[in-house]
Amino acid sequence: MKLVAAVKLLPTADQAMCLRATLARCNEAATWLAAAGHAADTRRQYDMHKMAYAEMRTRFGLAAQMAVRTIAKVADAFKVNHTVAPVFRPDAAQPYDERILRFVQDGAAVSLWTLEGRMVLPIVIGEHQKRLIVFRKGEVDLCLVRGKWFLAATCDVPETEAFQAEDWLGVDLGIVTLAADSDGRSYSGADVERVRSRLTSRKADLQRRGTKGAKRRLCKLAGLEARFRKHTNHVISKVIVQTAERTGRGIALEELKHIRGRVTARRSQRSRLHSWSFGQLCFFVRYKAKRAGVPVVFVDPRYTSQACGACGLIDRRNRPNQATFKCIGCGHEAPADTNAARNIRQRALRATGEVMRPCVLAA
Ligand SMILES: [Zn+2]
Repeated sequence: MKLVAAVKLLPTADQAMCLRATLARCNEAATWLAAAGHAADTRRQYDMHKMAYAEMRTRFGLAAQMAVRTIAKVADAFKVNHTVAPVFRPDAAQPYDERILRFVQDGAAVSLWTLEGRMVLPIVIGEHQKRLIVFRKGEVDLCLVRGKWFLAATCDVPETEAFQAEDWLGVDLGIVTLAADSDGRSYSGADVERVRSRLTSRKADLQRRGTKGAKRRLCKLAGLEARFRKHTNHVISKVIVQTAERTGRGIALEELKHIRGRVTARRSQRSRLHSWSFGQLCFFVRYKAKRAGVPVVFVDPRYTSQACGACGLIDRRNRPNQATFKCIGCGHEAPADTNAARNIRQRALRATGEVMRPCVLAA
């Protein structure tokens, strides 16, 4: 499985200037080569290399491997669109290969080729990224993201073979909570809700103003919200997968394509539904599960919200309101999301031919 590990660089101010100049030079060379290749109808890596390698090195002062990587970058851009010569931003990411990038000082720093020769840069790398980076394969991109320097390394992480699950952790991706599981745990958190409503009201504010400055701030806010959402989804998916792994269970999810259609949200809830990315959360659960060898099944989502997790009775009236489930047959009562998650678990047991076991129903 291909994953990207991010390594943060900690350059001094002088080093950062040199990195910026290096990136700019590589991209200047790339733009020049793209124009030359386009004009000469030469867009394949091999052909561009023959045509321009020597000139790239003398004209732009690139090291041999940097010239090679830059030619490859331009060839890749032509593969996406060969009808125009791409123009590279001065701070566009630049691929490096292992020969011009080395981890040194026991992995506490990297040695990187720059216009001023080799430069040793201290790095920060989290535990998770450290485990990933062992599997890095091929090139590493030097990127400047919002004023910070990163190396993005593609890693080919081996998958753990999935175990045979005899029981499932049912997970409902909901509206009231972001996710709830069949153990009765809900994943939402007041802070998620607080941040989200704060962002929403600030957005409305800026939209009303409609000035140029307000628009710029709106853009920034959108980025902030997306990063917050991604982080939250990472945290939730991690806990879900760890819970399943620790208890030797698989994970049962609803088939995603039905989720948006299923929910009849009131106007006030619609923004919450569409602003939160179910797709991303689902994707994170799936790939983290795959890495950990936790099996994942998808079940038919119909009536999971209206069926009773205790007696199985399906009735619209089992839902007196959005947040509550109360069975009109047996009187069983539970938070609506938890009840749905239990139904998802039951369906997974049925679908995989396991013996039905009643959930331990929390009072
Ligand atoms: Zn019931």
